[in-house]
Amino acid sequence: MIEISSEIIKSIKKVIGPFQENENINLHEPDLIDTNANSYLKNCVDTNWVSSAGEWVKEFEKYLSAYTGAKYVIAVSNGTVALRLALHGMGVKAEEEVLIPPLSFVATANAVSHLGATPHFIDIESETLGMCPQALERRLKEIAIKKGKFLFNKLTDKRISAVIPVHVYGLPAKMIEIKKICSEWGIPLVEDAAEALGSWIVDNDNSFKHCGCFGDVGTISFNGNKIITTGGGGALLTNNERIATHCRHISTTAKIKHPWDFYHDQIGWNDRMPNLNAALGVAQMEILETIVEKKRRLYKCYKKNFQDVEIAEIIGESKNSKSNYWLVTLRLKGNLDDNLKSNILQQAHDLKILLRPSWRLLSELPMYSNSPFGDLSESFNQSKRLINLPSSPKLIK
Ligand SMILES: *Cc1c(COP(=O)(O)O)cnc(C)c1O
Repeated sequence: MIEISSEIIKSIKKVIGPFQENENINLHEPDLIDTNANSYLKNCVDTNWVSSAGEWVKEFEKYLSAYTGAKYVIAVSNGTVALRLALHGMGVKAEEEVLIPPLSFVATANAVSHLGATPHFIDIESETLGMCPQALERRLKEIAIKKGKFLFNKLTDKRISAVIPVHVYGLPAKMIEIKKICSEWGIPLVEDAAEALGSWIVDNDNSFKHCGCFGDVGTISFNGNKIITTGGGGALLTNNERIATHCRHISTTAKIKHPWDFYHDQIGWNDRMPNLNAALGVAQMEILETIVEKKRRLYKCYKKNFQDVEIAEIIGESKNSKSNYWLVTLRLKGNLDDNLKSNILQQAHDLKILLRPSWRLLSELPMYSNSPFGDLSESFNQSKRLINLPSSPKLIK
């Protein structure tokens, strides 16, 4: 087994190339050097526009809208907030259930809980690591019952108020199939595209459509480890004017616009992205295509160096999709020795190559261990096999 781990580490080292002994090879570092970040941030300071209003916010939203094709974009303080705001916009309330995959970052489930609703776990499929359309349909047939215009879980008597597929590690999930099921059952569709800026899927009309634009609403994160960063930040994407208007209003303290009067017509949040962060965001959007191109080359480089490694494979984008390869991911194949994964992680960390296993399944975390779930066998099968590889754009010169 030590030999197998060594073979895997050797292939990873070939991709990374030579590095200093005291240097950490991180999973994902931002790419800020030699961008316009300094000059745009200086402009904020020089003009005193550093907070939650300003031209950079508008500029960043316009840039995102042009890039993704989403008609309305709302920049907010982080990806978790974007998801919570999106769910609220779709009418998700306390004591309801939202269907999500268990293989995701904890924020997907937390955003549901922040509204007092409960995540209900649906299995993933192995090709994209995203929510499995068949598993979704099977589970709905098992538990869902229509009462009036709403759908209920007949086992818990709670309303099923949304579905959230996740584009895991930037690999586009099977949105065409998932969207079809959601429209048949009349369930709002919220896409967690936190990791998927720069990822695309071929739509029914044969053109590429950006991840996050298939659902009623989609969300993105600009946290420091994501494909581009605003320091901290997120965005909500939608083509629906009513949802956009509601979400913008409620994310800006629900204040009715007036030159001096403070009148708020409901309980709102302060979710806005500050101008400082948006200025950084514009400088990052300017290099997004270069970053995506580098990451796609990095993926190919891993793929090549692993082609003779029998026990592992590098996960590629599915047919009719284009991944940003945010985190290139290795999958261990065949009958697994229980210790192989931890052996690989230990050996790599000893060399300061900071590999990460995929997240613990959300259904296994203490706060979600009592949440409802369908058959999760593929989620368990995949999660014990997945290792994220160093994916910083700077690894490609
Ligand atoms: C990063 C991430 C989020 C949350 O974004 P933050 O900006 O960190 O709040 C949500 N969902 C997924 C899948 C993520 O990877």
